[in-house]
Amino acid sequence: MGKFVSWFRSLLLLELLGGMALTFKYLFRPKYTLMYPMEKTPQSPRFRGLHALRRYPNGEERCIACKLCEAVCPALAITIDSEPREDGTRRTTRYDIDLFKCIFCGFCEESCPVDSIVETHLHEYHFENRGENIVTKPQLLAIGDRLEAEIAERRAADAAFR
Ligand code: SF4
Ligand code: SF4
Repeated sequence: MGKFVSWFRSLLLLELLGGMALTFKYLFRPKYTLMYPMEKTPQSPRFRGLHALRRYPNGEERCIACKLCEAVCPALAITIDSEPREDGTRRTTRYDIDLFKCIFCGFCEESCPVDSIVETHLHEYHFENRGENIVTKPQLLAIGDRLEAEIAERRAADAAFR
């Protein structure tokens, strides 16, 4: 009996009608489709995009080469070399991030004791040549210099939840 009812219902194409009714219902509703890249969705201050290295307002780089970020990175994407400077402080001589390895987990940012390495809102970038996936210290500092105002603003917006 059950099989017969099922067979009979299949002849009525009820599932098809149900699907078409659902389509019709959404036909006149506001559309969620965005015309990317002209239109973009709002982004959380916690969004984890391309990395940057920050400086203090006096221009001194924040990173003290403690290598916590390198140690905590689960993807082994960060490579740091460091040397003491003439004034006795230690700074990195090399700070590379391999974006092919990075999984944008944010652990590096969380581990940094001086808010040096951060992840910005930038997610629209591309590579054209072999090796460009390795982002170097000068490039990271340049991104930080360019976006410092936004980085500071986003971190301030998220400060109460950290
Ligand atoms: S975001 Fe995660 S995976 Fe990427 S460099 Fe930082 S710690 Fe490593
Ligand atoms: S970016 Fe931060 S965690 Fe990484 S080496 Fe520099 S100071 Fe240490």
